[in-house]
Amino acid sequence: MSAVAALPERSATGPRLDVDLTAIAANTRLLAGRATGELMAVVKADGFGHGAVDVARTALANGATRLGVTSVDEALALRDAGLAAPVLSWLNPVDADYGVAVAAGVELAVPGREHLDAVTRQGPGARVHLHLDTGMARDGAAPYQWADLCRAARLAERTGRVRVVGVMGHLGTADVPDHPANSAGRTRFAWGLEVARACGLRPTDRHLAATAATLTDPLSHHTMSRVGAGLVGIDPSRATGLRPAMTLTAPLVSVRRARAGTPVGYGHTWVAPTTTWLGLVPLGYADGLPRVASGRAEVLVRGVRRPLVGRLSMDMAVVDLGDTGAAVGEPVTVFGPGDRGEPTVAEWAGWSGTIEHEIVTGLGPRLRRSVHHRLRSVR
Ligand SMILES: *Cc1c(COP(=O)(O)O)cnc(C)c1O
Repeated sequence: MSAVAALPERSATGPRLDVDLTAIAANTRLLAGRATGELMAVVKADGFGHGAVDVARTALANGATRLGVTSVDEALALRDAGLAAPVLSWLNPVDADYGVAVAAGVELAVPGREHLDAVTRQGPGARVHLHLDTGMARDGAAPYQWADLCRAARLAERTGRVRVVGVMGHLGTADVPDHPANSAGRTRFAWGLEVARACGLRPTDRHLAATAATLTDPLSHHTMSRVGAGLVGIDPSRATGLRPAMTLTAPLVSVRRARAGTPVGYGHTWVAPTTTWLGLVPLGYADGLPRVASGRAEVLVRGVRRPLVGRLSMDMAVVDLGDTGAAVGEPVTVFGPGDRGEPTVAEWAGWSGTIEHEIVTGLGPRLRRSVHHRLRSVR
């Protein structure tokens, strides 16, 4: 990751992944405006592939008040980078180093008795959020385990070894606003809060909503929203004007004339139907372009959409340049916000039968990431 520059340099010496912090700032402000309560910036998985520290700093400067991650290691990396904001870590093995986490002021989600015991033992002074499964049967305590967890947490609190500062849940269908499981999840969360209260707990942070529910379901907001995807411009509601923050470009490594009938790539899955120009793009599935998008994906060359042809390889892809006249060294835009007609991450997700989240978090480690602020919006 390079230092923050005023504008991206245009010299294309290899593939580059530009992260637009101006977009992340605007997205954060939009989400903070929608959230009834506080905004937690979720920067797990390296900030959804955009750089956890850069996303965290930008979000905190634009309305987020907290940070959220999965593992303690991710939380400690934020501390190592000098970020002092409250951080919550919600997914850890029972034998994680909670002592180090607590010493670093990292708050911990507790999904069950085993975790509660481990945190109580290892981390006196721990600030914990009890995690209730609100309908996904995934993480968090199952409803039948909840009262027992709340009672045990209250006992631990009385010894002074933990403080229950929060209760959290998560909705599995919030991207479908009228799905009946949303109100069922809200009801279960409200029940969980009542049980906690009846056990003598007084959690001040009560949080259920992620990006989708923050945008579409105010009843789920409680005291805080935890948003990740929305910060980087992934908009499950497709209606709010969140702006994608990544642009992936690469220079053409070579250009060749190919006669009609020329087969391209492994398996010869594509054969030039007419004489054309082919360009070599130095990006492949090792960089996170899904091989399953072969035969569907497009890129932007000289302002026009051109198809990638043949199979995507590990390190390279071939673009049918047609008569664009593109030459060696010219930049090809693989995806971006879409302003100039380039494909978006959402289109790549569609070509790949997946969601945007998987594309942005699956980009390969050898991509050079460069963060920058735009001087003004080009929307
Ligand atoms: C990833 C995650 C979030 C953020 O979800 P988005 O839909 O990306 O906003 C919130 N809460 C939990 C528990 C998560 O795992």
